[in-house]
Amino acid sequence: MRFCVLGSGSKGNATFVESGQTRLLIDAGFSGKEIERRLEEIGVAAETLSGLLITHEHGDHVKGAAILSRRFRLPVFINEATLAAAGPVLDNLPQCQPFVTGQTFVFQDFQIHPFAISHDAADPVGFLLNNGRLFLGYCTDTGVVSKLMQHRLSSCHGLVLEANHDPDLLRNGPYPPSLQQRVRGKTGHLANAEAAGFLSDILHDALEHVVLSHISETNNHPDLAQEAMAAVLESLRRQRGDDCPVPAISLAHQDRVGEVVTLGGKGQ
Ligand SMILES: [Zn+2]
Ligand SMILES: [Zn+2]
Repeated sequence: MRFCVLGSGSKGNATFVESGQTRLLIDAGFSGKEIERRLEEIGVAAETLSGLLITHEHGDHVKGAAILSRRFRLPVFINEATLAAAGPVLDNLPQCQPFVTGQTFVFQDFQIHPFAISHDAADPVGFLLNNGRLFLGYCTDTGVVSKLMQHRLSSCHGLVLEANHDPDLLRNGPYPPSLQQRVRGKTGHLANAEAAGFLSDILHDALEHVVLSHISETNNHPDLAQEAMAAVLESLRRQRGDDCPVPAISLAHQDRVGEVVTLGGKGQ
């Protein structure tokens, strides 16, 4: 299995995931053209995509979904509340495949489990993708970490995890109080320390790679997100010694594609 965050942040989100012959996008929050361009950068032709998975209806997650779906006849996997809340931007999808949050479904090479997250959208979800051997977790746009998230993401080999903001930068930044409240609220976005605490809770030897995503350009700095995670890994090394397996940590970017990560199933 390999994956790549094509871009992430409040201006657009899309992640490519591949296993066997199946090529998926999780969210399509850039223009269709921009997503095609970013896929090309990692050597993937958009016409070889198999389908789209949608987490929630915010524009930074669905902007290009309908156009890509029409242009390449792609099935769009989405829950009904999200589809209804999206309105015209997702009207007339050629192939809509509704899923039910909490119910696993199978599409080609993937078993896909959508699980509930805490965000100010109709029925927002994270995803756990499984190709029969490896698990990839995807979880952004959540105001809190829940027991359910912990349960679902506790045995991932790869993880795309939100590290949205630093509370001090948010407080001292340009956002008006109401918007600050939305970001830090229970249905907003995860702070660096909350993401780090979550990583610490689910850390296990088979976790190979974590991509920090949805990093705010206004209320965060990539170094701060990275440092919060490094502290978690450092404390693990202190407990278990320098040889203990730790995941690689990379950053997703708003304006360019991230690293293409291949999961190998080490520690299995
Ligand atoms: Zn978002
Ligand atoms: Zn959102």
